[in-house]
Amino acid sequence: MRLFIFQRAQSVDEAVKAQGAFLAGGTSLVDLMKIEVLNPDKVIDITRIGLDKIQEEASGLRIGALATNTDVAEHPLVKQKLPALSEALLSGASPQLRNVATVGGNLLQRTRCAYYRDLGTRCNKREPGSGCDAIDGWTRMHAILGGSEQCIAAHPSDMCVALAALEAVVRVRSATGSDRDLPIAELHLLPGDHPEREFALQSAELITSVFVPATPLAAKSRYIKVRDRQAYAFALASCAAAVEIDGGVVKAARFALGGVGTKPWRVPQAEAMLTGQRADKAAFAKAAARALEGAQPRKHNAFKVELAKRAVVRALSLAAGVAT
Ligand SMILES: Cc1cc2nc3c(=O)[nH]c(=O)nc-3n(C[C@H](O)[C@H](O)[C@H](O)COP(=O)(O)OP(=O)(O)OC[C@H]3O[C@@H](n4cnc5c(N)ncnc54)[C@H](O)[C@@H]3O)c2cc1C
Ligand code: SF4
Repeated sequence: MRLFIFQRAQSVDEAVKAQGAFLAGGTSLVDLMKIEVLNPDKVIDITRIGLDKIQEEASGLRIGALATNTDVAEHPLVKQKLPALSEALLSGASPQLRNVATVGGNLLQRTRCAYYRDLGTRCNKREPGSGCDAIDGWTRMHAILGGSEQCIAAHPSDMCVALAALEAVVRVRSATGSDRDLPIAELHLLPGDHPEREFALQSAELITSVFVPATPLAAKSRYIKVRDRQAYAFALASCAAAVEIDGGVVKAARFALGGVGTKPWRVPQAEAMLTGQRADKAAFAKAAARALEGAQPRKHNAFKVELAKRAVVRALSLAAGVAT
């Protein structure tokens, strides 16, 4: 049995000063503690510090880090102004899990790489420098974009893919009490030579909220997820897309991929290719091909290249209203 200190914080400042692993819904942290992949000495319960509001601001929605995945997905303003976010959340996990899982915990959930969760295997993310048994192992669920020779774990979150396409900004409180804003594109780190470093956060930094711009583009966003089962399965490939059209021509487009990257995957050059083009499948297919350039499939996941391209075309078509 492993001993750890459990502390219940009553405020944000108390939580950051406590210097421990934050416990929100616990659906990821407790899971990983039970199988001894994560072994914090101190666990800080943050479920009673507030931060669960969803509020409209002048140019978007501010979502508290402790708002549950269900509350965000079902919120009328989220459905109306950020439909891809609602769809992405509803495609994840199960209703029971979404009822307790929080936005902050979802942002920092760990990979589902089976080797990471198996103490009998080598994993650079779990034990830096030990090696990676996935590289020559069973790679069906692994990433084809953004990997390194040290780690090819796919990023698991659906919500983060939608937030990446919608250009969300994460607000973080440090132990000294100051706040900083971090674009979501900078929150998740590529594995490189240090897959154990997953997030651009300092120890004890607490995510307090996420701001999502509510633009005309965002109001037309959609999320597509391709997986082995229609429920309770992680993405093989997914895409959040938003398209603004004027007279059949694309004014602006954003899209992000999930299930295929070591982090939520955006390729701004592929998005830019769409501006000024007719909103049709031919243009979407070209952008999808550009987004997948440089993909490095492994033994069991070459199918993801084509699957991801089709997910991009489908999501863009739905967002543009040209899907058949
Ligand atoms: C069976 C199963 C199926 C799943 N399927 C999917 C799926 O299909 N798609 C998907 O996207 N996800 C899926 N998930 C993952 C699920 O979405 C996450 O477990 C959940 O969102 C984590 O939220 P939580 O509040 O429970 O986090 P916790 O477990 O409490 O915390 C997770 C991590 O985040 C840290 N943390 C939490 N809140 C904060 C904060 N405010 N500031 C700083 N650090 C914080 C914790 O310290 C911990 O390291 C699944 C999970 C399970 C168990
Ligand atoms: S892919 Fe990454 S998480 Fe999976 S075993 Fe290799 S180092 Fe570990």
